Amino acid sequence: MLRIAIIGGGAAGMMCAARVLELRSDVEIFLFDRNDGLGKKVIISGGGRCNVTTGIQDVKTVLRRYPRGEKFLTSAMFAFPPKAVYDWFEDHGVPLKVQPDLRAFPVSDNGKDIVGVFEKLFIDPRMHLLLKTSVIKIEKSGEQFRIFTKEQLAPLEADVLVLTTGGQAYRQTGSTGDGYAFAQSLGHSITSLAPSLNAFFTSETWPAQVSGLSFEQATITAKTTPKQKFTGPFLFTHKGVSGPAVFALSALVAFEKYDKQNPLEVTLDLFPEESFDQLHGRLQALAEQHFNKAFVNVLGMLVPKSLADVVVTQLRISESKRANQIAKREYHQVCMWLKAVPLHVVQRGAGDEFVTAGGVTLSEVDPTTMQSHVCPHLYFAGEILDVDGFTGGFNLQASWAAGHLAGESIALTLGSTEHKV
Ligand SMILES: Cc1cc2nc3c(=O)[nH]c(=O)nc-3n(C[C@H](O)[C@H](O)[C@H](O)COP(=O)(O)OP(=O)(O)OC[C@H]3O[C@@H](n4cnc5c(N)ncnc54)[C@H](O)[C@@H]3O)c2cc1C
Repeated sequence: MLRIAIIGGGAAGMMCAARVLELRSDVEIFLFDRNDGLGKKVIISGGGRCNVTTGIQDVKTVLRRYPRGEKFLTSAMFAFPPKAVYDWFEDHGVPLKVQPDLRAFPVSDNGKDIVGVFEKLFIDPRMHLLLKTSVIKIEKSGEQFRIFTKEQLAPLEADVLVLTTGGQAYRQTGSTGDGYAFAQSLGHSITSLAPSLNAFFTSETWPAQVSGLSFEQATITAKTTPKQKFTGPFLFTHKGVSGPAVFALSALVAFEKYDKQNPLEVTLDLFPEESFDQLHGRLQALAEQHFNKAFVNVLGMLVPKSLADVVVTQLRISESKRANQIAKREYHQVCMWLKAVPLHVVQRGAGDEFVTAGGVTLSEVDPTTMQSHVCPHLYFAGEILDVDGFTGGFNLQASWAAGHLAGESIALTLGSTEHKV
């Protein structure tokens, strides 16, 4: 009987256990989680709707959505791509749907249904769920792993250890980063860690005036070296900017240092599909047509009025100026502003980030099996690894894929050991 200990009953740990159960009968799986239920983060993901994977089917395109881990994930992703994940959940009784923005959700819009699949699968004599159980230390003695818990259960001995403890974002879900210390104690190194997929707070306070205003497409560019930019849905907030484009940029600049003294300069192109000249032409045509109207109202035909108010204030154009009183230079300034709104990011929306960038060093893990190169029979999957993706289902997809591959490798390649119970 092969004894497998999985630490962390999130997306990666659950999928790893499920895959082992699918493939092998002579196993005992001990799945530890400090929470009183499985998949706490999966349940709250996607605002409770669980953006379970992406509708993008081309695996190479999917892989490009990972600022860290693109190459490492190749085997796992080809073996269990988004389409296979989609089919897997449907085959297990949860119909899914793909939205026009290519995010996949359960038809029920309820993340609990996703976790429910595993809850059913785990009613299995080979499965031992150790919930409300916090692992505090792991030792390797000889071939065996010994797992110690805060609840002072007798240390569990296992032939195989899978660390799926997640990152350290949204710690209230139980993912507090403990796994990094366990990995280190077993000989692994951990890269620098940083929050990712977060909103930005800006030194400018005017975004509060347009808070809630969203754009289907905006390009946000960070003046880093090299420059980083992303185009996608975008939102102004009380304290700055947010939305998928901002989250993606935050991932691309996850390891940049910035604060009030040293802000990160970013610009926003609110008309990414139009050239400066086209926008300029459009604004001038509107102004000629409505020459007698206040310019701010004419501008309000191009952008929401609340933003037009901000633009004229920022550029010190009098609210009472009529369209025919606007100088050429001012048209130019307005269009320049809309194509490159200047903002200074002073803080990440800390504590609100969705994932942790960084983790177990990828060169120490075999990407074709998820087994450690450093410590035999130790496996990793999920956010504990130095892998993170953009929003849109990519982080869960990475966890499903790596968990599946780890489970498959364990089930198909490891021998069994007799154990006294
Ligand atoms: C608010 C929010 C929304 C998100 N929405 C989406 C989304 O819609 N789509 C998407 O793709 N991604 C989303 N993500 C990211 C995604 O949820 C994570 O990347 C993914 O869940 C990571 O899976 P994991 O299995 O690696 O870790 P986790 O799901 O974090 O699971 C780790 C588990 O390990 C347990 N654990 C940790 N340490 C110990 C210990 N010492 N002892 C016992 N148990 C322990 C924890 O309790 C936890 O249950 C979201 C993240 C957040 C925070």
